[in-house]
Amino acid sequence: MRTEFLPFHAPEIADEEIQSVVETLRSGWLTTGPQVNRFERAFGEFIGARHAIAVNSCTAALHLALEAAGVREGDEVIMPTMTFAATAEVVVYFKARPVLVDCEVDTLNIDPTQLERAITRRTRAIIPVHFAGQPCDMDAILDIASRYGLKVIEDAAHALPAASRGRRVGTIGDITCFSFYATKTITTGEGGMITTDDDEYAERMRIMGLHGISKDAWKRYSAEGSWYYEVLSAGFKYNLTDIAASIGIEQLKKCCRFWETRSRIAARYNAGFVDLPEISRPVCRPSVQHAWHLYVIQLELSRLTITRKEFIEALKRNNIGASVHFIPLHLHPYYRRMGYSETGLPVATSVFERIVSLPIFPSMTETDVDDVIATVREIVRSCRR
Ligand SMILES: *Cc1c(COP(=O)(O)O)cnc(C)c1O
Repeated sequence: MRTEFLPFHAPEIADEEIQSVVETLRSGWLTTGPQVNRFERAFGEFIGARHAIAVNSCTAALHLALEAAGVREGDEVIMPTMTFAATAEVVVYFKARPVLVDCEVDTLNIDPTQLERAITRRTRAIIPVHFAGQPCDMDAILDIASRYGLKVIEDAAHALPAASRGRRVGTIGDITCFSFYATKTITTGEGGMITTDDDEYAERMRIMGLHGISKDAWKRYSAEGSWYYEVLSAGFKYNLTDIAASIGIEQLKKCCRFWETRSRIAARYNAGFVDLPEISRPVCRPSVQHAWHLYVIQLELSRLTITRKEFIEALKRNNIGASVHFIPLHLHPYYRRMGYSETGLPVATSVFERIVSLPIFPSMTETDVDDVIATVREIVRSCRR
């Protein structure tokens, strides 16, 4: 058994990030300024998107995206139930309704065949969530969206860097939202980024992300740097700081290296569990680049004498951290009050009992990965039915 606890996640922060933050602190400019500018340009180039807008969270990004897409009171927005609270709460901000759809049993992504059935006259947009970093079936989703005139706002909190049929996530739907929360594939502590190729959306999101203040009006009426501005709308306060951006600039440079390491860890797990019928490994579609933000196994409970809860406790007793992504939204009190129940979304309900997220982060050593594999194998061996 390991003597030291292996956490479920640890961010990889090195001297470059620390140095970069120190330089920003010494520069005298702490909030949105030259570092945010640099970060946006580098991110837009990396993704291949016309516009990249830095914000202080992916939740803020999703809120601004829905506002730009014109979501209004009484509208419906379709999304998977297998996601984090943020995807849905932003819809409620507009007094619109999050419409929850079941997932595919293998990828845990939104099931496109269920999606079409959820569309009504009130549907305004779809929010696909690229679960664990595997892109959804975007061809099917874009096809449905164009037939019904719906906007596609991607929740790409897990999907950096990811691609679907050669297209980078961030260039596929109308607007894409990324997260730089502490546990995500790159981090700024807290932070997010919006990408879009649409000039009008970009303009609207920039204005609404900073108090509804128009930069253009400010430029039109006075010399740059003056005190003049105009409030065009009641906006929000969602700007990223230069302190955070200076971490992001260094993290982005390492994004591909981090991804290669996570891919290698996933491959090593796959090989380590290949002969265990008690463990279903994550399924990766052939046409995608998977970001491997999460490595989610499914326990075949009929072959085991323990529950998922007991499985995670056994991992913990052996000094290995694990987690669960996600408790489907429809099982939470708020969404139950909205009328959702276990039976309405049966795949996610049953998958939820079986899922376990194992540690996968760039600073894990091969020994760490092998310890997880050995521990999982030992738990399975001793709890086989
Ligand atoms: C983390 C996460 C978010 C929210 O990201 P923040 O940057 O913390 O706001 C949204 N959606 C999903 C699927 C997430 O995992």
